[in-house]
Order: sequence, then C-alpha cells, then structure tokens
Amino acid sequence: MSEQDPSTNPDLKRIDKQIEVEIFDAVRGDEENPVMPVRLKSGDMFNFSCHRGVSCWNKCCHGADITLTPQDILRLSANKGIRPREFLAEYTLPGVWERADLPVAKLKMTGADGKGACHFLTDEGCTVYDDRPATCRYYPLGLASIKPKGADIQEDFCFLVKESHCKGHEEDNLQTVDQFRKEQGIEDYDRVNRGWMDILMKMASWASIGGPYGKGVTPQVKQMFFLVSTDVDGFRQFVFETKFLATYEIDPEAFDLLKENDEALLLLGFDWLKSVMFQDKTITMKENVLHEAIAKARENMGAV
Ligand code: SF4
Ligand code: SF4
Repeated sequence: MSEQDPSTNPDLKRIDKQIEVEIFDAVRGDEENPVMPVRLKSGDMFNFSCHRGVSCWNKCCHGADITLTPQDILRLSANKGIRPREFLAEYTLPGVWERADLPVAKLKMTGADGKGACHFLTDEGCTVYDDRPATCRYYPLGLASIKPKGADIQEDFCFLVKESHCKGHEEDNLQTVDQFRKEQGIEDYDRVNRGWMDILMKMASWASIGGPYGKGVTPQVKQMFFLVSTDVDGFRQFVFETKFLATYEIDPEAFDLLKENDEALLLLGFDWLKSVMFQDKTITMKENVLHEAIAKARENMGAV
C-alpha cells in the first residue's frame, strides 16, 4: 500500500478554524500588565504622538523585546554599512517565535541582563531612525493577522496597546491607523515581509496538529527558514552554488536580478519555503527532477 500524499489527505487538507496571530505584539517594554489591546481598522482614529518633549522620551528603547523582520535586517545592515551576516553576529541574539516554533533574530540590548538601552540609542535619540525596525515603527500599534473560518485568505489588522510608561497617548494628536502607517513608512516593510509573515501565520495555524498536514517541520527546514530570513548572502550561495537552479524552474533572465537584489532574493526564498513547508505551488520543480523524486519515493516504498 502506498503512503498517501499528506497534501491530498482529505482529513488533513484543511484546518478550517478561525485563527488570529499577533505578528508584532507592540509591547516593547517590560510592563507586565499593559491595558488590554483595542482592535482597530484602517480608518479608525487613535490619539498618540511621540516626540522629544514627552517625559518618557526613549524609555521604550530600553530592555525592548524586538523580533527583527527580514526587511529590518536588510535596512539596518545597509545603515551600518555591513552585510546581514555581520549585522547578525554583532547586534542580534537568536530567539524563537513561539506560536510558530520558528527561529528568529532578536535585537540585542545592552547590559548583562539585556535590559539596558538599545545599541542604537544615544542622548540624541535613535541613530538608525530612518531604518528602524518594523516593531519600532508600529509602536504603540501591534500587527495581527486573522484567518476567519471558511475564508481562504487572511486579513491583517492593527491593535493599540497602552502601557502606563508611554505618555504619547496623552498628547493631543488624533489620527487614523492609515495616516499613522503612512507617516511611519510601514508599507514598504509590509510589502517585503509579507511572505515571512504568511509563513509564521501558517505555521501557527497548523500548530495544534503538530505541523503542516500533521507533520512537524524538520530542524533542517527551520535552519533554512532562519537562513532566508536573516542571511540573504547565505541563501544566495545556496541558490547559485548548489543544485537549486537545476531543481526548480527559475527564469534565467531573473538570475542577474537575484545575484544583485536582496529583496528579490528574499521573495524567492519565501516562495521556496512555502513550497517546502506547506507544499504550496509557489515555485515549480523541474519536470525531470519531479519524475526522479516520484520514482525514488516509490522505490523506497517498494512500489516499483
Ligand atoms: S532601533 Fe531605534 S527606535 Fe528601535 S529600540 Fe533601538 S533606538 Fe529605539
Ligand atoms: S511616548 Fe511612548 S513611544 Fe514615545 S518615547 Fe515615550 S514610551 Fe516611547
């Protein structure tokens, strides 16, 4: 008897339940009991302003728990004039994004206990302000994704978190979520990070049955997720120096772009990960490779 392809197993094909996952939780300080988050739509108004005159100026840049997105790492490395691998070694610590059980990079704080100031903070404020991470841009908003029961696609929404140390909520500046997102330059980050966020969301939605189609993700795949998300040069080596291009249908005209453009390579990486982790049809295996793989699988099952 041949083993059934898990992606076509009707019992495991769809986990159809409402799921809501926080991508950035917005709580960057060490506050234990922030006021309950309020869910906001794009046109909803909220009152907030952060500026040098607030009594809490830079308080939130101490002991902050910041998960770095792939676009954060590209932008911050470029800001420091180094490549992502060096940036990773100098400014980050390894972490785990618990809901999806996937490895992520966290921004390192100063101090033996990691509760000191951010490495990029000076008396003048944030020295990487133009390239600050997405979490810093979003604050005091959080970002969450929801897949309603029966829907095929997920929707994002924001939520407002009020921490007592943050006096920005007492400032007189009413704005919509959309206005705030635009002012903070968030769109560009969301565009590049979309695939990464999709993967976190999908993994979280499969968590209750142990992983995609009921199967756990191997440590090697987790390593590749970390490589794509944090070390674009390492993934470039993987694409151009292994059998990757002989395995997948990639338009040769895109090779030059992938050699030079980090964002384009990230998008390829997320498509590839979705195909490996969830069997999504985001990247196509070459026909001869596919036939060989099927023949090998049959051989292993003694079905030839
Ligand atoms: S990157 Fe800038 S805004 Fe973000 S925690 Fe560090 S100093 Fe603060
Ligand atoms: S107002 Fe809030 S976001 Fe601005 S410095 Fe103070 S704690 Fe940080």
